[in-house]
Amino acid sequence: MKYQVLLYYHYTSIENPETFAETHLKYCKNLGVFGRIIISKEGINGTLSGTVEQTETYMKDLKAISGFQEISFKSDLEEFNPFRRISIKVKNEIVTLDLEVDINPHEITGKFLEPKEYFKKLQDPNVVIVDARNDYEYELGHFKNAIKPDIKNFKEIPSWFRKHKQLFEGKTVLTYCTGGVRCEKWSGFLKREGIKDVYQLKGGIITYGKDPDVQGQFFDGKCYVFDSRISIPINHVDPVIVGRDYFTGKPCERYINCANPTCNKKILCSKENEVTFRGSCCETCRTHPLNRYNLKIRS
Ligand SMILES: [Zn+2]
Repeated sequence: MKYQVLLYYHYTSIENPETFAETHLKYCKNLGVFGRIIISKEGINGTLSGTVEQTETYMKDLKAISGFQEISFKSDLEEFNPFRRISIKVKNEIVTLDLEVDINPHEITGKFLEPKEYFKKLQDPNVVIVDARNDYEYELGHFKNAIKPDIKNFKEIPSWFRKHKQLFEGKTVLTYCTGGVRCEKWSGFLKREGIKDVYQLKGGIITYGKDPDVQGQFFDGKCYVFDSRISIPINHVDPVIVGRDYFTGKPCERYINCANPTCNKKILCSKENEVTFRGSCCETCRTHPLNRYNLKIRS
């Protein structure tokens, strides 16, 4: 049986997010789809899975809601269902940037480029390419020559930018993220900070990898995704591995969480090294009393 995984977001005003979320949760449970959805007064951001029939119904029904007609979905067919439950949360933003003054992408945002246009711009020697994602996402895969903001969380990116503003001043800047939701605010933020020429990749890395002509060229490594698949291939022309094993530095695309639950750091690690280093990032974590790896071995 085939399952379909959807990735989607839409910036649209939701007057009463709490009520919307409650109704939406009932609807999803009734339909039998699983996934993780964030609802806010500024819109919806979700990733969801189910049978092809269930997810097709979901897309049709969501588009029928007033204000959601323009929503676009990225979809993948998988052999297994990557989600096991449904979670819907109400938050202040659909991606937390936590700015003193929020960005409304309907008012200010970078120019959208379709994958083909983005592909061309990437080859312009005068552009600055910047990733909008977290360090562990970058480490598994990224566009060639892209700047890596050293951040663990999206909301750290404004202060990272203010420290590195000289990299961007007077330049043409290309931003990208997984599906596009982060870039709408991040590219708007860049413009508000005085960077005039800002472009964002429409539909993000996921859409870029699906374009029949571009086929993910210039993307090295894989794209990190927030479900049990962990990563998906993007470059179908000349793929390379950029991930490096945390312990040995050898090519590796396998993520584990540090076995110390109070650390939980994401590390790239081969099966072999997971055993050797007991799934732990350092000696302190390896000997931590709550270490999952040690507890599992003892039980
Ligand atoms: Zn650790």
